[in-house]
Amino acid sequence: MPAVKKVLIAGGGVGGLTAATALRRQGIAVDLVEINRDHSVYGVGIIQPNNTLRALDQIGLADACVANGGAFPGWRIYDADGGFLMEAPNAPEASPRHPPINGITRPLLQHILLGAARDSGADLRLGVAIGALADRGDGVDVDFTDGTAGSYDFVIGCDGLYSDLRRRLFPDAPAPLFSGQAVWRYNFERPAGVEWGSVYYGARTKVGLVPMSATTMYMFLVTHERDNPRMPEARLAELMRDRLAGYTGLVATLRDQIGDPAGVVYKPMEHLLLPGPWHRGRAIVIGDAAHATTPHLAQGAAMAIEDAVLLAELLGRDAPLPALLEEFMRRRFERTRYVVDCSRQIAAWEMEAWAGIDNPEARPGQLLGEATHKLMEAY
Ligand SMILES: Cc1cc2nc3c(=O)[nH]c(=O)nc-3n(C[C@H](O)[C@H](O)[C@H](O)COP(=O)(O)OP(=O)(O)OC[C@H]3O[C@@H](n4cnc5c(N)ncnc54)[C@H](O)[C@@H]3O)c2cc1C
Repeated sequence: MPAVKKVLIAGGGVGGLTAATALRRQGIAVDLVEINRDHSVYGVGIIQPNNTLRALDQIGLADACVANGGAFPGWRIYDADGGFLMEAPNAPEASPRHPPINGITRPLLQHILLGAARDSGADLRLGVAIGALADRGDGVDVDFTDGTAGSYDFVIGCDGLYSDLRRRLFPDAPAPLFSGQAVWRYNFERPAGVEWGSVYYGARTKVGLVPMSATTMYMFLVTHERDNPRMPEARLAELMRDRLAGYTGLVATLRDQIGDPAGVVYKPMEHLLLPGPWHRGRAIVIGDAAHATTPHLAQGAAMAIEDAVLLAELLGRDAPLPALLEEFMRRRFERTRYVVDCSRQIAAWEMEAWAGIDNPEARPGQLLGEATHKLMEAY
């Protein structure tokens, strides 16, 4: 008999939808509330390193991601003029029958996760959030913002970086911190010859090209944005083009195609690590709500998916809840801390270099390579 019979999930993003499917696979009843009125997500891409595919394979969703995405062998690194510097292949160490890395559009990933959660029999409710929550010790009573109510054995907050459940459970939790960097993304047709992921190191910025399918790719541009300015939406295309001014070759050709401000997805990079344990009583926060990382290792969604799959597996066991949660924290805290810390370090080194500071200890490329391989290990 599972440790819990009925679970409430707050948040229908990457972690929440994965948790819904994974819990249903354990025979646990699931209600999921998503605050937005629809399941739409922004239209650019997401990188799935091989450990993401390992976790998704545990609930049968990795093959669909690969079939709908653009697999690639690793990263080729260039200077701003397209001069080749090095090749950093990835290996499918975590899930050998899947590619080393897969790129996929965020809407297609959402479609796969949402379809699986619906098919699993989870009750998905849109435009609803937790209004009030009372932990009775042997269960949790919840009043929802639409006037309905429910009782649950356990509550999981997958409600993202600005988590409401985190605030309720841990009022003194640290707030998300702006890293100093921001990322700009734009979709393109994938030109012939772009078989790998590509990274171009400019004097003050970094550019990447990421395959998302056989015919599409996206560009990410990482910049230093002092004081986290608000970018005017109508000028996003022009501002992104301005920041690509120092590049030549393929990046310059692509820069000239950036014309639609609505096609530019601009995100300040923020991070947060909630000290453990991430649970209080019969509720827990996972994914970005507990550990949000800057995307330097492309591991944010991966960590949310790993959290969700492991937590569901543990909650499906016939064992006391406190012991299961302790095991969850033992297997998740250091791993997610490593991702947040390595990503912050790489961001700091990049910004030093862009400011003209010569730090002989800076080794962002090596740390990326080391971390990528380390994260393929079992946890
Ligand atoms: C620019 C950028 C690039 C990234 N690239 C990558 C990448 O290449 N690879 C990768 O692995 N990761 C990447 N990430 C990280 C990844 O997107 C996140 O780590 C991941 O989405 C976290 O999943 P989550 O379920 O915790 O949160 P989200 O996916 O953010 O989902 C949270 C959900 O909760 C809902 N919600 C919020 N508040 C409430 C509430 N009170 N009640 C109910 N619902 C609520 C939200 O509407 C949302 O649907 C990137 C992130 C950024 C910003």
